[in-house]
Amino acid sequence: MENAVSYVRVSSDDQAKHGFSIDQQIANNMQFAVQNDYAILQTFKDEGRSAKNLERPGLQDMLKFCADKKNNVEAVIVWKLDRISRSVGDYTATLSPFFAQNNIQLLTVTDINGEGLDVEMMRQISMVFAERERKMTALRTKEGIRGKVALGQFPYHAPIGYENIEIKGSKYKKMVIDEENAFFVRQAYNMCLQGDSLTTITNKLYKMGFRNKHGNRHPKSSVEYMLHNIAYIGKFYYDDVLVEDTDYPPLISEATYYAVQEKLNTPSKTRQLHTKFPYNECMTCAKCGCYLTGELKVKKSKKSTREYIYYHCTGNRGGDCKKGSYIRQELIDEAFTSVLKQITIPENVHQLVIDGLKEVHKEHTKDYEMQKKSIRKRIDKIDKTLKSVFENGFNKHDETMMKNIEDWEVERKTLVLEEQEMLKATKTFFVQSNLLLNFCKDCHSAFLKGNAEQKRKIVKMVCSNFSYDGSNIVIEPNPIFKAVIKNSMHNKKLPRLDSNQQPFD
Ligand SMILES: [Zn+2]
Repeated sequence: MENAVSYVRVSSDDQAKHGFSIDQQIANNMQFAVQNDYAILQTFKDEGRSAKNLERPGLQDMLKFCADKKNNVEAVIVWKLDRISRSVGDYTATLSPFFAQNNIQLLTVTDINGEGLDVEMMRQISMVFAERERKMTALRTKEGIRGKVALGQFPYHAPIGYENIEIKGSKYKKMVIDEENAFFVRQAYNMCLQGDSLTTITNKLYKMGFRNKHGNRHPKSSVEYMLHNIAYIGKFYYDDVLVEDTDYPPLISEATYYAVQEKLNTPSKTRQLHTKFPYNECMTCAKCGCYLTGELKVKKSKKSTREYIYYHCTGNRGGDCKKGSYIRQELIDEAFTSVLKQITIPENVHQLVIDGLKEVHKEHTKDYEMQKKSIRKRIDKIDKTLKSVFENGFNKHDETMMKNIEDWEVERKTLVLEEQEMLKATKTFFVQSNLLLNFCKDCHSAFLKGNAEQKRKIVKMVCSNFSYDGSNIVIEPNPIFKAVIKNSMHNKKLPRLDSNQQPFD
């Protein structure tokens, strides 16, 4: 019999809404221990705590207990992986190495257990989705804002062209069009469609009387923001979710908005730069933190004309490293390719991961079904209550009753939103993990074949940090790719220094 500890956690939302009790987790972990011949030395609890970070007293106590060699802990048992963390970063950077170092197995009652690349990959992929789910849950749990968003109310400061007005007897403000400034917003969109540059639009608006609340000129950046703000078509983003069913009127038609987006994006300067220089603003200067920028150098001789692409620090932060930071594009290509070459998944592992994910997915679906049922039940109950209130009639001057009705309606809308998100999450889980695996299968050849734009996308996706200090390129892959790269921190010495001949003028 081996020694184990049990870790259980419920968030405030789990408890209130889905009836996940901490006692149930304790019992499940206990049963798992008995079946698998483990003795539970101690149970660590976190109640009403989110797994967004590691700052949980129960978890911290557990880690301390595990680190103490005297306790001789061989396994940590959790009901589901997301009990211990919902952050890919925490899991890959802290928890997984901690358990490995201390020779402790992390065992889950409902997810896949075992050692090896396939299990580790499945865990990381699950973690990516647990993190996503947590971000979506954030939408539902931020008190106040949650009700607001559920009602389709704009949760931020009213954008230029709108204003918030108080509604008598309600705690919510209503966002309405502020005609005076709305005029300028519409003008800006029209000018943009007619081909005016941002600077021209900003100047013209100023001449027309467009001012901020202190009577000053709006800077070009506010005008640019205005031209990109999707709020003007009556939609907004909240925690990466596009809320389309909103309660305020649009100021700009969708056709105009998207035509302007098109205009602003092509052919902008940055875009042109990106098609020419794939690493523009991807790589940072290790000395000062500025982005490296691409530059074309042409070498003419009697016989031929050759073009070279160099990247260098812009020195925008006042550093004097620009001169020593020139690096040829080919060398960056080479360094990045060698990292991508390490991202490979053997065919048999690929299949194992897919099969494993199918199992995990099945379990998740079961949980979702349970949660969906409890959400439905609550919605039905609210409907019943509201129905009987309206049938029996009520006094419109009864403030408590009016407030209750408002609260029930907000709760109902929140629950419906939650139900929809849950459906989306189960559907995307498998499709997305499959995409990710296929990408890993041959990202290296995709990169070699890709054009500048595609290369750039791959770099942005794979790297969390990418820098150059004048002699070394450091490529730090995103956590999700670390499982498939042996040396997670890839420190690449430049292969041949002479191939980085300094630019000529
Ligand atoms: Zn620099």
